[in-house]
Amino acid sequence: MAVQKKTSPRKSNTVRLKFDTAWPYSPAPESKSAAQIKPQYDLFINGEWQKPLTKKYFKTINPASEQVLSEVADAGEADVNKAVNAARAAYDKHWKNMPAKERGKYIFRIARIIQERARELAVIETLDGGKPIKESRDFDIPAAANHFFYYAGWADKLEYAFPNRRPEALGVAAQIIPWNFPLLMTAWKIAPALATGNTVVLKPAETTPLTALTLADIIRESDLPPGVVNIITGAGNTGAAMVNHPDVNKIAFTGSTEVGKIIQRSIAGTDKKSTLELGGKAANIIFDDAPIDQAVEGVINAIYFNQGHVCCAGSRLYVQESVAKEVIRKLKDRLESLIVGDPMDKNTDIGAINSRSQLDIIHKYIKIGKMEGADMYESSCKLPGKGYFVRPTMFTNVAQSNRIAQEEIFGPVLSVLTFRTDDEVIEKANNTPYGLSAGVWTDKGSKIFNMTRRMKAGVVWANTFNKFDPASPFGGYKESGFGREGGLHGLSAYVNLRNL
Ligand code: ADP
Repeated sequence: MAVQKKTSPRKSNTVRLKFDTAWPYSPAPESKSAAQIKPQYDLFINGEWQKPLTKKYFKTINPASEQVLSEVADAGEADVNKAVNAARAAYDKHWKNMPAKERGKYIFRIARIIQERARELAVIETLDGGKPIKESRDFDIPAAANHFFYYAGWADKLEYAFPNRRPEALGVAAQIIPWNFPLLMTAWKIAPALATGNTVVLKPAETTPLTALTLADIIRESDLPPGVVNIITGAGNTGAAMVNHPDVNKIAFTGSTEVGKIIQRSIAGTDKKSTLELGGKAANIIFDDAPIDQAVEGVINAIYFNQGHVCCAGSRLYVQESVAKEVIRKLKDRLESLIVGDPMDKNTDIGAINSRSQLDIIHKYIKIGKMEGADMYESSCKLPGKGYFVRPTMFTNVAQSNRIAQEEIFGPVLSVLTFRTDDEVIEKANNTPYGLSAGVWTDKGSKIFNMTRRMKAGVVWANTFNKFDPASPFGGYKESGFGREGGLHGLSAYVNLRNL
């Protein structure tokens, strides 16, 4: 773990930039009318909306305005039990014996309805989670639909995915997802589980339940047999009850390393299978021969995209010393031109932080960065008076041992470090407890291969960052978890392979 460096706070290491935007954008707000948010949501169990046995509900708010959007059921142990029983019954009665090509038809249908209702889903995602509408509209929702399409195609071709083996479904999958890509993570979990013949109990994060609950409605519309997908809401206790339920065969979790460790301890000694996608502290490396403008834009995308609420965010930037000055100058200029504010505005680059507690964590790390003696730059943009917002921030003069270079911040905060040689940067990049993703920017193909081979990260992007495709696997090393989602690897996480 990080060695904490004790330094006294420097007096004036915060620089707020002044930059006159030549041509400010006029507001271009997306209409809220596409979003059909109900005032209250129950639990989606066995194909119908069921009241929680706890009789409890909790509120979900819009982090950009702090207004309540709806209240959702707080599922207790007995509710989890009902959902798991419904999933088991559906597995035994319908899903296990359904011809694979029929299963595929349902998954295709879900994909098509997501496309048809894309605008509604994008608006709900942005209202509930705070991410810019251009991201939910252009990335999250289309990527979620693509995932269902991709895995629908595999459903009746599993014999080609696993030649000379007989893949068998595991049974009931308990799936727990985080708040950073709510619908997309739901798709990552449900689509491969259904394609391989499993049934599902899924729980979205407590701060972003609304798109998963809208998906429940889509699932009803698709006529999927009742109980094949159950969607329940609640916080950590609900998740823990899912993990500990004796009739669950597989746990798929995306979230913090801390909770990932709790889950691993809970299932130790059981025959439950698991995939865990946990935290990250990705290194993004710029060599002096890289196309600098393209690399700078890539860095902006890597860390400020989705407010830095990305497990694979490129939060550590390593720049080769000879180009460091130029890169830092260009980054500062670019930081200043990022548009921060109303996530529903189509011009917005950085929306709201997902919750008050996450905003507090980001502020805490900004304070730590200053205390550690790094130099801080932040955009001079004005923040909205209400809601959870933070200025895009960058630290330079960061030491490898600083906490802001070692620990996951999960916000729009970049730490910039420098290096001289390939060996030095490899050593520094790999020197973290995580290993989810990394980026390399260079003109030389040979250097790309050399670096990617030596970097301990599940995904290494070359001359790009944050590119996703349903066909390519994603997942980490070390404390970033294990197992892969996406592509063929994503299928194998949901099957037992028998010999023919
Ligand atoms: P973050 O710190 O990013 O909010 P968490 O790991 O706390 O991530 O949350 C990710 C998901 O895990 C959420 O759906 C949350 O409700 C759930 N969760 C939290 N604690 C537990 C737990 N002990 N067991 C199972 N799931 C949990």
